[in-house]
Amino acid sequence: MKLQDKVAVITGGGSGLGRQGAQLFASEGAKVAVVDIDGDRAEQTAKLVEQQGGTAIAITADVSDEAAVYRSVETTVEQFGKLDIMWANAGVVSRGGVPSVAGGEHVEFQDLTDADWQHVLGVNLSGVVYSCKAAVPAMRANGGGTILATSSAASFAAYHSIAMYSATKAGVNGLVRGLSLDLGRYGIRVNALAPTHGMSPNFLMGPGTPVIGQSYEETAGPWDPGVSPIPLKLQRPPSLVDNAKVALFLVSDDSAYISGLTLPATDGGTLSRVAMMFE
Ligand code: ADP
Repeated sequence: MKLQDKVAVITGGGSGLGRQGAQLFASEGAKVAVVDIDGDRAEQTAKLVEQQGGTAIAITADVSDEAAVYRSVETTVEQFGKLDIMWANAGVVSRGGVPSVAGGEHVEFQDLTDADWQHVLGVNLSGVVYSCKAAVPAMRANGGGTILATSSAASFAAYHSIAMYSATKAGVNGLVRGLSLDLGRYGIRVNALAPTHGMSPNFLMGPGTPVIGQSYEETAGPWDPGVSPIPLKLQRPPSLVDNAKVALFLVSDDSAYISGLTLPATDGGTLSRVAMMFE
C-alpha cells in the first residue's frame, strides 16, 4: 500500500480524474476528503470509495472561494487528524475562438465576458493557490506532505478555443516550480500532472477526430496504425486510470526526489508537437 495511513484532500473529486484518483488513493490506504462544488457528486464519490472498503468524506466547496478552501482543510483535519496530500484538481474549461473541439455554443474570443475570464482564472489558478495556502500550515504541523496540481498538455501546446484555459494551466506550472523552492525545506513537495484526456489527436488529425467526452470509437473509428497520432502500441487515448496512476506516483514516496515538476502524462505525439514549437 503506497498511501497507508495518509490523509488526502482531492478537489474536483466529484467526477472524472478526481473521482478516479479518490478511488485509487483509497485503495492504496489513504483516507480521502472529496471536495467539490457539486456536493451530490462528491457524496457519490465518497460512497464509491466506501463500497470498495475505503474511507472518505464529502465536502461541498467552491475552490475559487479562499475561505471555503480553508474550511475544507479544517474539516479534513478535524475528521482525520492531519493532512498529508493536497491534490488541487478542480478545473473548468474555457471557450472562445474557432468552434470548440469541446463542442458547445460558438463564441468569438473578444465576446467572452470578464465573468468568463474570472471564472476560469478563479477556479483553475486562484483555486490552486488557495489549496496550496490552506494545506501548508497543516502539512508543516505534520512534518511535511505532498501537493499535486492538475495542469494540462494545453499548458505547453497550443489548442484551439481554450486559450484562457491554457493561460491558467501555464500559471499552475509556474506556481509549482516556484513553490517547490519555498516549501522544500518544510518537507513539502509540489508537482503538477499534465494529462491530455485523449485530446492529443485533435490538432493532428483534423475534422472528424475525437472530441472531449466521446470515445474514439464514437467519433473517429479505428485508425490506420501507420498514420496513427498515438505512437504507443496501446493505440488508445489515456484513460482516467492511466492518469490517476501518475497522480499516485507524484503524491507517494515513489517520487520522493521529484519536486517542482509538471509531468506530462501523455504519448509521444503530443510531446513531439510541443517540441516542434521550440525548434
Ligand atoms: P476532468 O475530466 O478533468 O476530471 P471534470 O469536469 O470531470 O474534469 O471534473 C472537474 C470537477 O471539478 C467536477 O466534479 C466539477 O464539479 C469540479 N469543479 C468545477 N468547478 C469547481 C469549483 N469552483 N470548486 C470545486 N470544484 C469544482
